[in-house]
Amino acid sequence: MVDLETAEERVGYLIELGDTLSPFDESAKIEANRVLGCQSMVWLTSKIQGEELVFSATSDAPMVKGLVAVLVGAFSFKKPEQILAYPILPLFDDLQLKSFLSPLRSNGLYSMVQKVLAIAESNLNQDHAQKPKVTERPRPSRSVDECRDDFPILSRLLPSGKSLVYLDNAATSQRPLSVINAMSDAYENHFSNVHRSGHTLAAETTLAMEASRQSIADFVNAPSKDGIIFTAGTTASINLVARSWGDAFIKSGDEIVLTEMEHHSNIVPWQQLASRTGAIIRWVPITAGFHLDLEVYQKLLGPRTKLVALTAVSNVLGTINPVRSMVDMAHDVGATVLVDAAQAIPHGDVDVQAMDADFVVFSGHKMLGPTGIGLLYGKKSLLESMPAFLGGGNMIQTVTKEGFTQADVPHRFEAGTAAIVEAIALKPAVDYLMSIGSEAILRHERELCDRATKSIQTLPGVRIFGPESHEKTGVLTFVLDGIDSQQVGHLLDSQGIAIRVGHHCAMPLHQRLGIGASCRASFYFYNTLEEVDRFVEAITALVLRRAAD
Ligand code: PMP
Repeated sequence: MVDLETAEERVGYLIELGDTLSPFDESAKIEANRVLGCQSMVWLTSKIQGEELVFSATSDAPMVKGLVAVLVGAFSFKKPEQILAYPILPLFDDLQLKSFLSPLRSNGLYSMVQKVLAIAESNLNQDHAQKPKVTERPRPSRSVDECRDDFPILSRLLPSGKSLVYLDNAATSQRPLSVINAMSDAYENHFSNVHRSGHTLAAETTLAMEASRQSIADFVNAPSKDGIIFTAGTTASINLVARSWGDAFIKSGDEIVLTEMEHHSNIVPWQQLASRTGAIIRWVPITAGFHLDLEVYQKLLGPRTKLVALTAVSNVLGTINPVRSMVDMAHDVGATVLVDAAQAIPHGDVDVQAMDADFVVFSGHKMLGPTGIGLLYGKKSLLESMPAFLGGGNMIQTVTKEGFTQADVPHRFEAGTAAIVEAIALKPAVDYLMSIGSEAILRHERELCDRATKSIQTLPGVRIFGPESHEKTGVLTFVLDGIDSQQVGHLLDSQGIAIRVGHHCAMPLHQRLGIGASCRASFYFYNTLEEVDRFVEAITALVLRRAAD
């Protein structure tokens, strides 16, 4: 940390720093290299050396030259992805220069940072055009046994005096302290509206939100963060696609292929689209083994198929679908594919490039993040071909009395004030999931689910719906013959055990299974073997009591 007590000391320090800048090529002082937004003149150029970017910049104002020197020093000789992830705010904080990094200050530093990030981003995208991007994930650093204390709610006592056994993770996960703290920190220290206001808080909030967009992009291996749109959740993302892409490209007689295991969120928006346009919906059935029938799927696909919308993982059966082959089959007939990854994302192994889907949607609240925030990933060229859905602030370039021009993606689809703090808190959620690692998450869930399944499947009158443990996530869906599912839910709740009962927003699937409702215990990496045993004991007691009645 540099110790600069007074404003004069800071100015002197900056002027000294400015003198350390390498000479700037005079012939490069052209309009195209100007950084706009400064009272003084600032120029910036970049070149690639190996895989790294090197910046050269200068200003005609000695003090601004010092600030430029800090930025050039911080960002040069780094790969584009390192630049995008570089924590520039803490650096300026350390140098006690953070107040200069604001869009309100006319030194243009904020614009310069934006320009550097844009250069890094476009270099990153060029890289991706040449080779498929593989995001390097940090090595998992936390074991599942170490994580329970990070989730305060898991140790609460219920009014019944029982300790909570939370087995409703497929509905929503719980949040670790890092996510809860990130939300309070944002509200306490860095909160403002984003993208528009020209002041320090706005700059900090915008940078934090964009950092979160980048971390989501990395998490799902998206080629660029511009293909990542913040929405209110999976449901909102699907409705956005149905309204924007659907209304623009679907016509009467076109066919939309859905599967029998979809959540209502991936059914109703398409039914609404079909009734607006005259499109026809076709259904991929499930087999007796609770998988999608791929032979029928193949037969359903044809020249009229314009969209396939399928879930990566069933929220009721836990079945993991062969997404990539289904996407390839759809692409072979020219169809666009939307993948509902709401139940896949909590396990942390969604790779949008490996899936090759055109759209991938998911919610923050099922992956340790806040509610009210979700994501739509889209292939950029496809998103660019789509009209805005909601109109309002943030999604425009210009507005006149005659009309408007729309902003580029992703902002085109982010009208109005976003769920800013929720978006920011997605980053610690992603960091947490990566610290455990997708393999460990799935392995642990399956171990618990397997133990629960083996223990209750031999009990009389227990019917389980779903494939073998190794073919699914940690979801155990069952009915107890002769006991209403609602009653099972109440009785387990009285023991402190939270499971989900009902149709789980998948009525067509329940109709196919010939049941009105079911009970679902869904396990996550923070659940324990002891919790499984409490669940099994409670179910066993119910079955025995029914047998005795
Ligand atoms: N799709 C699937 C497979 C789901 O499990 C859910 C949530 N239960 C949704 C969509 C809807 O998600 P949200 O309510 O967060 O919009």
